Amino acid sequence: METPSARATSGPVTVCVANQKGGVGKTTTAISLAASLAGLGARVLLIDLDPQGNASTGLGIRIAEGEPSTYGVLVDGDAVHPALQATEIEGLSLLASSLDLAGAEVELVPAFSREHRLERALEPVRDSFDVVLVDCPPSLGLLTINALVAADEVLVPIQCEYYALEGLSQLLRTVELVSDNLNRRLRVGGVVLTMFDARTNLSQQVVEEVRGYFGDLTYTTVIPRSVRLSEAPSFGQPITLYDPSSRGSRAYQRLAREVALRLELPLELPEESRVERLLGDSFTVPTSAPDLRADSSSDQETGA
Ligand code: ATP
Ligand code: MG
Repeated sequence: METPSARATSGPVTVCVANQKGGVGKTTTAISLAASLAGLGARVLLIDLDPQGNASTGLGIRIAEGEPSTYGVLVDGDAVHPALQATEIEGLSLLASSLDLAGAEVELVPAFSREHRLERALEPVRDSFDVVLVDCPPSLGLLTINALVAADEVLVPIQCEYYALEGLSQLLRTVELVSDNLNRRLRVGGVVLTMFDARTNLSQQVVEEVRGYFGDLTYTTVIPRSVRLSEAPSFGQPITLYDPSSRGSRAYQRLAREVALRLELPLELPEESRVERLLGDSFTVPTSAPDLRADSSSDQETGA
C-alpha cells in the first residue's frame, strides 16, 4: 500500500470512518477524533450516517423523528447548515441521525443521483470546516457508499481481536470500485488499531499482522482498550471531556495530531515534545510488550 501523499484540493478534508464489521470502534474513533481535532483548533463537522445514532447520543444529542437530521439532508434534500447542531466542544458541529435514517437505504434506491446525495449536500458548507468526519454504519450499503463518494479518505478502525482482517478485502474492493467509478479522489488514508489489550498476545499479533499488511498506512498510535472510553457515551460526552487525562483520551489526542499532520490540516500543532509531556505515556509504536503491560496495569489500577 502506498503512503498517502499531500492533498491537492482546497476546502475541508472529508474522512469517512468505515468498516462494515460491527463494533470495531468506528463511532468511538469518529467522536474522539472529532473532539480531539477540535481541541487542536480545527473546525470540525461530524456527520452521523448510522441509523443507530451512536455518534449523536455519544455527544449528548438525541433527536426526534422529523427534526433536522442526516435523513432530511439525504432523502428530502434539506439544507445542511440549518440541520447542524452545536456540541459541548467548541469548534465541533454535528449532523445528527436517528432511526428513520434506516429507511434511507431503501428510499434512496430509486432516487436520482443516489450515490452523490451527501457529496452534493456538503457543497454549501465547504468553507465552514477544516475537516468533515463521517461515522458510517456497519454495512456497505447506500449510506456507506454516499460517505465514500463524498470523502477524500477512508479511515479504517480495526479491532485487535480474532478475525480482525476478516471482511477487509470486501471493504477495500468497495473503496476501489467507488474510486474507479464514482470518486477518483478517494483512497484509504489510514488504519487505526483499536481496543488494544496489552495483556494478550493476540492484540500484539493483530498489530503485527495489520502493520505487515498495511505498512505505513497504519497509524503509529494504537488505541488501548479502556473502560473510560466505553463509559463516555452513556454520559453523552466525548472522552476529551469525560476524562481528558485517561489513557483512551490521551491516545485519541495523539492520534488526532498524527491525523492532522497526515491530512495537512491548517493547524498550529504543538511540538511533539510538548505533546509528549502533555499526554504522558500514551501509546506509540508498541514494539515492546513489557512497556505496554506497564501501561495496561496503570489502567487497571485507576479503572480508566
Ligand atoms: P457499530 O458497527 O455498531 O457502529 P462501532 O464500530 O461504531 O460499532 P463502537 O460503537 O465505537 O463501534 O464500539 C463498540 C463498543 O466498544 C462500544 O460499546 C464502545 O463503547 C466500546 N469501545 C470502543 N472502543 C473502545 C476502547 N478503546 N476501549 C473499550 N471499549 C471500547
Ligand atoms: Mg458505530
